[in-house]
Amino acid sequence: MPPGSVESAWLLDDFKDPENAKHAAERLIKAVSEPFVLDGKEVFITASVGIALSSGASYESPEEILRDADTAMYRAKSLGKGRYETFDADMRASVIARLQLEMDLHRAIEHGEFTNFYQPIVSLSSGEIVGLEALLRWQHPTRGQLAPKEFIPVAEETGLIRELGWWNLREACRQMSEWRSRYPSCANLTISVNLSAKQFSEPTLIQGIKDLLTEFGLPPTALRLELTESTVMGDPQATVDMLEQMKAIGISLAIDDFGTGYSSLSYLHRFPLDTLKIDRSFISGIVDAKDISDSAEIARTILPMASNLQLEVVAEGIETSEQLAMLKGLRCKYGQGFFFSEPLPAAEVSSLLTGQLHWKPKHFSAASGKQ
Ligand code: C2E
Ligand code: MG
Ligand code: MG
Repeated sequence: MPPGSVESAWLLDDFKDPENAKHAAERLIKAVSEPFVLDGKEVFITASVGIALSSGASYESPEEILRDADTAMYRAKSLGKGRYETFDADMRASVIARLQLEMDLHRAIEHGEFTNFYQPIVSLSSGEIVGLEALLRWQHPTRGQLAPKEFIPVAEETGLIRELGWWNLREACRQMSEWRSRYPSCANLTISVNLSAKQFSEPTLIQGIKDLLTEFGLPPTALRLELTESTVMGDPQATVDMLEQMKAIGISLAIDDFGTGYSSLSYLHRFPLDTLKIDRSFISGIVDAKDISDSAEIARTILPMASNLQLEVVAEGIETSEQLAMLKGLRCKYGQGFFFSEPLPAAEVSSLLTGQLHWKPKHFSAASGKQ
């Protein structure tokens, strides 16, 4: 329950028509939303209501009906303030699917069903791979390969993201250490790893990273951690402390999906960061006539400011030669996206790296005009 919120359960009986429960919820929401004065100040509050109807359902205990009303209330909250929702078969199905996913995730961690895919990060001027981002994939025994959006949210909610995150970080360090030692031309490649907010606040994080770097003989400069704006915006002082400890190890730090959160560059300059990754949503609109003013304007603003703050910029989600040309025109140095390569299994990256000196992403020469 978020701070400042109160939960209560209301038992309404003697209803002839289930619609009456909805009318009661509407009256309750309206009554609560009236502003009132507390200590001379006008206060506004909202209510979210979840309704579970006992008629037609086979409830066997009061706990069951409370549980379903609770589920409906969280659904109402997730849809916005001042709403009500009635528990229904769809909600039951999604609760069951969520529980199943949670159980599957536990099993998957035990049985090692995860792998890392790696997506090249490319120098926009030369087309060379400068680094790789490790991205989790789950080889689910019945559902096939699952992308992070299918399981990261549940892993975050349940705290399983800690274990998953450590697995991903460890495997990424191991793999990069192997690539660096096996292919001399890759000696300067970096590995980027996404760090969730829960991992960021783990007291053992710093020591854990140090141990991994030692174990795999990986220089700290080879590791880049990606954090989202919401992760670093929590408690600014604690964030500065943590980021400084990370910088003291020698690893580099990036803000992922930049532009989608509520932070501003002026705020971020307090943090010891190295890189901003401009979110894909701005890149996709950059040459689209409808969006051109907004997205191009955002990129046009971010790039010089980032450069003033001595931050490198990586454009995420480059899909077309037009987007690439526009970004190069804006002096963006690095990029990542399907135009160059989708995230690939490690073995495919190895083949790419063996031909590293000759590797030119598909269509790159045509787009850059100076290959
Ligand atoms: P992200 O870190 O922003 O990763 C980039 C995502 O954009 C990847 O999705 C990648 O496949 C996708 N992408 C890259 N280029 C393009 C493009 O040109 N077009 C389109 N449409 N998409 C592109 P993916 O692999 O599904 O990962 C999604 C997100 O899941 C990641 O976003 C990251 O936030 C999270 N994630 C992945 N692995 C981990 C992990 O190990 N730990 C944590 N905490 N989060 C992870
Ligand atoms: Mg990322
Ligand atoms: Mg991103």
